Amino acid sequence: MASNKLLTHLNLIRPCSETPLILDCFVVINDDTFGSITPARPDGDYDEVIDCRGRYALPGQINAHHHLYSTLALGMPPPAIAPADFLGILEQVWWKLDRALDTDSLRASVQSGLVESLKSGTTTIIDHHSSPEAVAGSLSLVAETAHHYGVGSAVAIELSDRNGSDCFNKCLEETITTREKYSKNNNIATLLGLHASFTLGDRSLQTISETLALDDSMGIHLHLSEDAADERDAQSRGYPSVLQRLHHFDLLNTRSLLVHGVNCPQADTELMQQLGTMLIHNPTSNANNRIGMLDRERAITLNAGLGTDGIQSNMLKEAKEGTLIRSASINPGEPSLDYLTLLFEHNPTIASRIFNRPLGRVEPGYRADLAIYDYLPRTEITPENLGSHLLFGFPQPSEVYTSGELRVREGQMTQLDEQQIKADALIQSNRLWKQLL
Ligand SMILES: [Zn+2]
Repeated sequence: MASNKLLTHLNLIRPCSETPLILDCFVVINDDTFGSITPARPDGDYDEVIDCRGRYALPGQINAHHHLYSTLALGMPPPAIAPADFLGILEQVWWKLDRALDTDSLRASVQSGLVESLKSGTTTIIDHHSSPEAVAGSLSLVAETAHHYGVGSAVAIELSDRNGSDCFNKCLEETITTREKYSKNNNIATLLGLHASFTLGDRSLQTISETLALDDSMGIHLHLSEDAADERDAQSRGYPSVLQRLHHFDLLNTRSLLVHGVNCPQADTELMQQLGTMLIHNPTSNANNRIGMLDRERAITLNAGLGTDGIQSNMLKEAKEGTLIRSASINPGEPSLDYLTLLFEHNPTIASRIFNRPLGRVEPGYRADLAIYDYLPRTEITPENLGSHLLFGFPQPSEVYTSGELRVREGQMTQLDEQQIKADALIQSNRLWKQLL
């Protein structure tokens, strides 16, 4: 049923737009979409009028690379011997975790991750999934749970040879099934997930290429040159770089989502630019795995987006921590990277391309995703200094709307029982961790 809402007396912050700060404005929401944004109350009747009492609001945020399957890894017992390198981290931590997931633990992981995302103001997630022992139906589970919670999701299950050809085929089938199933839902997108070049042989890349050729509106979503080991692998197979290997198999197009790109050779920046691929930067994950830091020029040239790679759900925190991680490794006076531009300018562009609809901005016609904050600034907020307030002042949001519906009120979920979700997650995580020993 059609409905409209009027939000009154809102202090709207729109980073990276022509009017980044609009004080005391009125915002109309028609069904799931923003209508007018005006300085005076617009004419008309509204089903609901909500007085925002001068509180500050931001667009609902986009996590451009996440792993909802890894939410239950928080506090997980570490391996007996600390991994010596990146491959060791994958083999001893993440590949053990994903193989141990079943439908129940996966559901608990996804639900917890979604709750924490929503409570942080994250309203769209581009997810990269893996559960090799529970493939059938897993991508639907992620997409449908996100949809039920009101979170837009672009889902992908990773194709890899590391679990054998049977698993590869099941993951490909799961991708195709999911893409067909949700083809008419504009809050769910399905991408062709690949783990990374170094766990995919030439025959598998050829199969993926043939699948992609059947549907040119689909893009790949993969980890690109996260660690230097990925580049060494591509070279050992006779390619100048990982990117060149993917290009050789005709896997790259304007819908390709390439994640990390930290260890690519310099020349690859130009090739990515020519091909119009998208790059996602995950600063806290890169720091956590000690694999290096994305080159500033590459991030700027390619309009890189911002993701968390499963480390966390709060995008303002990711932007702040990315800023500080970079500051720790550069000299005074050296230019840094504006992480808020990644979050509020590049992520909306990337998500709008993937979902084929306008997302991530508070402007007429965009999906009505909004985070409202109980924030009493101790210094004046101006268009020039709002970045400092966002990185160093803003708390968690008190209210969050997705698709025009209130999902979080006074910091609590409106339609879901968080206590029940977390209680289930506790049970499932204990069960999951026992399987890792
Ligand atoms: Zn990742």
